[in-house]
Amino acid sequence: MNDSALTPEPCSAPLRVIPLGGVGTFGMNCTVLECGGHMIMVDAGFKIPQGNYPGVDLILPDFTYVLENLHRLDAIFLTHGHDDHIGSLPFLLRQADVPVYGTALTLAFVRERLADRNGNGQPVDGDLRQLMFRDPVTCGPFNIEAVRVTHSIPDGAALIIRTPVGTVVHSGDYKMDQAPIDGNPTDLAGLSDIGEAGVLLLMSDSTNADRPGFTRPEAEVGRAIEDLMGQAPNRVFIATFASHIHRIQQILDAAKACGRKAVIEGRRMIGNSRLASDLGCLHVPPDVLISMENAAEHDSGKLVYLVTGSQGEPMSALSRIARGEHSGVKVGNGDTVIFSSRIIPGNELSAGSMIDRLFRAGAQVYYQGSPMVHVSGHGSAEEIKLMINAVKPRFFVPIHGDYRQLVACSSLAQQVGIEKDRTFILDPGQVLELSEDTACLGDSVPAGRMLVDGDLVTDLGSPLMKERRRLAREGLVVVVASIAAPGEPESIAPSVFSVGVGLEEASQSLDREAEVVAKNFIMEWRSAPSSIAELREDVRIGVRAVYRRALQKKPMVVSVLVEE
Ligand SMILES: [Zn+2]
Repeated sequence: MNDSALTPEPCSAPLRVIPLGGVGTFGMNCTVLECGGHMIMVDAGFKIPQGNYPGVDLILPDFTYVLENLHRLDAIFLTHGHDDHIGSLPFLLRQADVPVYGTALTLAFVRERLADRNGNGQPVDGDLRQLMFRDPVTCGPFNIEAVRVTHSIPDGAALIIRTPVGTVVHSGDYKMDQAPIDGNPTDLAGLSDIGEAGVLLLMSDSTNADRPGFTRPEAEVGRAIEDLMGQAPNRVFIATFASHIHRIQQILDAAKACGRKAVIEGRRMIGNSRLASDLGCLHVPPDVLISMENAAEHDSGKLVYLVTGSQGEPMSALSRIARGEHSGVKVGNGDTVIFSSRIIPGNELSAGSMIDRLFRAGAQVYYQGSPMVHVSGHGSAEEIKLMINAVKPRFFVPIHGDYRQLVACSSLAQQVGIEKDRTFILDPGQVLELSEDTACLGDSVPAGRMLVDGDLVTDLGSPLMKERRRLAREGLVVVVASIAAPGEPESIAPSVFSVGVGLEEASQSLDREAEVVAKNFIMEWRSAPSSIAELREDVRIGVRAVYRRALQKKPMVVSVLVEE
């Protein structure tokens, strides 16, 4: 919260900037800009669920506001091809028939996402239009230009969005690596020119705002990996993010330098490498790549396996290799495993148990820390200051971070001269209204999280999620009974089954006890019948009390009482 939030000025400004995700919590980046009755969206990402989301595959921003105003949405513009920026498109484009703009590799990754079947969903068609760097396109009252930024994926862009009231710069995800692997550093000269012409608002990546100094250059990782590969006595397995094309490039180059052959394994790693290679973003050295089948023909000390699974994902290539379930290769004594990635918060348990498993198998495992087998793709504090100084915005909004990173980023802006009342930390759905020389908080639009389970999309507070959490926590009891009409011969005795409530023997004995309780309720009801619904409720409460007394659990009880 900032001062202007406490005392909002009256404002009838013509530009509205609305983050729908990516502020206050990492992931599902998405921002809407509105002007003159038109709307564009920047990025449409998803988030992988961490924590208590049983059965949920993905989390999307709540697109209610956009879907209710679909007739005003002119286009979606993408900064780069990471899933937290493009992952919602298959769901959004099923309902929104709008063009999607992005740079070449970004669109190639989008095409792959759209071709995926999601749950029971069908592949989605998209009107994909390529953005060329420094070649603006006009869209309603907006004019949008991509400026190159360096990130952990090629073809990353900051978006320069010119509007009738001024220029908005959306930084995308960036770092200021001065010698990046593809030779394409962040276009600071271009950003400075845009800054000189006057920028109304900068929205900046805040990911590493709370890290001092500069993020280490990507090339240092290549040198560390080559050193480890050179010393490794046997096979080398390297896990990294499947979209990290620069890292894949460095690993293949290191393999070449060390005289090793490389096998790429994992569906998305293979697919992304092919796409990047086709677009000239990845240059596979000659005579390095071999197939998994051909690896057996080579000395194991001359092999590198480039695999998915850096987060311990159970079905990934590295997980299957670690469990000894991969048909092509196993890990063993003398092998080296390098996690060239960070462990994303929330994945510590799965990644940790896989690392333990690899150590148990006799491998030497390198992960997080020394030697430098991974660096971030996001700039640290000094790089963010550099961006702000180049762009020289009148107003500043930190994006792409948990709340603490947004606060740190806002503080960096103040350190380089953006007064506190010109920085705005926005919540999802919070509207920032801008005119040529003012910015103030406006109303809020619906925002939050939508949960995806297969083809089902539901909201966070839905009864379905509450039921799943309760089932996971308390277990399930089913009561089945056949109820004869009053005056008819006695019904068959009720049966009770419990699942996930207690240990087997204790549960079975409680199930029998619950059967007696249910039978008593049924006999009572037969002597003075009321509605079957009342009986069902009495049985539910009475049976639940049995488990509650014995185990302090409140299982979900389902009474199936069938009238004969
Ligand atoms: Zn990114």
